[in-house]
Amino acid sequence: LQDKLNKAIKTLKGQGRITEINVAATIKEVRRALTDADVNYKVAKDITDRIRDKAIDRKVLISVEPGQLFVKIVQEELTELMGGEAQGINVKGDPAVILIAGLQGSGKTTFSGKLASYLKRQGRNVLLVAADIYRPAAIDQLKVLGEQVGVEVYSEPENKNAVQIAQNAIIQARKTGKKIVIVDTAGRLAVDEAMMKEIEAVKRAITPTETLFVVDSMTGQDAVNTAKTFNDRLDFDGVVLTKLDGDARGGAALSIKTVVNKPIKFISTGEKMEALDVFYPDRMASRILGMGDVISLVERAQQAFDEEESKRINAKMRKNQFDFDDFLSQLQQIKKMGNVKDLLGMIPGMGKMIKDLDIDNDSFKPIEAIISSMTPKERQRPDIIDGSRKKRIAAGSGTNIQQVNNLLKQFDEMRKMMKKMNTMQASGKLNKMMR
Ligand code: GDP
Ligand code: MG
Repeated sequence: LQDKLNKAIKTLKGQGRITEINVAATIKEVRRALTDADVNYKVAKDITDRIRDKAIDRKVLISVEPGQLFVKIVQEELTELMGGEAQGINVKGDPAVILIAGLQGSGKTTFSGKLASYLKRQGRNVLLVAADIYRPAAIDQLKVLGEQVGVEVYSEPENKNAVQIAQNAIIQARKTGKKIVIVDTAGRLAVDEAMMKEIEAVKRAITPTETLFVVDSMTGQDAVNTAKTFNDRLDFDGVVLTKLDGDARGGAALSIKTVVNKPIKFISTGEKMEALDVFYPDRMASRILGMGDVISLVERAQQAFDEEESKRINAKMRKNQFDFDDFLSQLQQIKKMGNVKDLLGMIPGMGKMIKDLDIDNDSFKPIEAIISSMTPKERQRPDIIDGSRKKRIAAGSGTNIQQVNNLLKQFDEMRKMMKKMNTMQASGKLNKMMR
């Protein structure tokens, strides 16, 4: 809580008044959190614009649970942005051919093994093809994985022509009754023309049912650029995001979908063969939302709940009409925000003063009890509270006359302070003081 509170308060402080949280600030936070999560700036801007419109449309600020509603809107927009529904792969054909493309190290070979295993578990008859002709180790790697998942691997170690290997593999598949052929190809460390030409040639020769682009989600914005280049050349059908088990922030998922407008179909979350998942946009949205900073927007939005009320009180303060009803309402707002001492500690200069004070939310109880025992008229005009009224209030609230006196005195001082601040504010002094 401490942590959350700190975050929430940070923005609060920036806004001068504790209860004046506005949608704009929250939106800005969301945008920053998204760019922190590797979401492309333009994408983050577009989506937050839409979130803002929706928040206004659905009257988030005056809803019953603004925080939840706000998060729901963000979640919906993120989900929509990532394609809405989960997309399967097309495995129709005799055989269906799945071409795997991507940079070296992105996880193509690992994914090929996983996909073979996944399809095999669905009862399909699969053939893996080692068409990475540049690294002998790549063939062995695929063979090991094939053995592990119980899927046959086709390779021609002496052949240096990826197109031929892929074509031969398909002939072999037909002969042996394999229904799905997965072609694992070679990648380079960076996009280069020779690699692109080769993968284009393979694609042309085998006309795959599905071309899947594999990309390492840890590479952030680079992932988006690579996706764009591959898509321009290959016009692939779907994306596989790998290494989402690391500290990858998932933002790549958002950007890629927007930039290339192709669905993400699978995510890979580990080196083990089981670590493959169908991509669900709503789950990814939760993942992105569940990260660090974005959580704090929830808190802020929750506090925005009281904006209407605080505006009202604010206006009364300015007119020197602040009364015990307003005081009670403020106490309740403060309590909602968490531990009072922590909260007060955030106010500049306040930390030292309250360090030794023994206050917590329970300290408010007698105060609330006293105010509750006042009549509406007494709350609005405390100056009418005389000796006999004090006695009645003390008895009614289970406190004593001294406590009632104390509160009245404090309240009076508070009002004087407000009045002073109003005058100072009017003369611009306060603004200078706050800086
Ligand atoms: P390729 O060059 O595209 O074929 O990439 P590889 O499949 O050989 O993978 C490169 C490295 O990344 C290997 O060490 C894999 O074990 C690892 N790797 C692949 N996918 C994942 C994943 O989802 N999570 C993690 N942590 N590592 C992965
Ligand atoms: Mg490989």
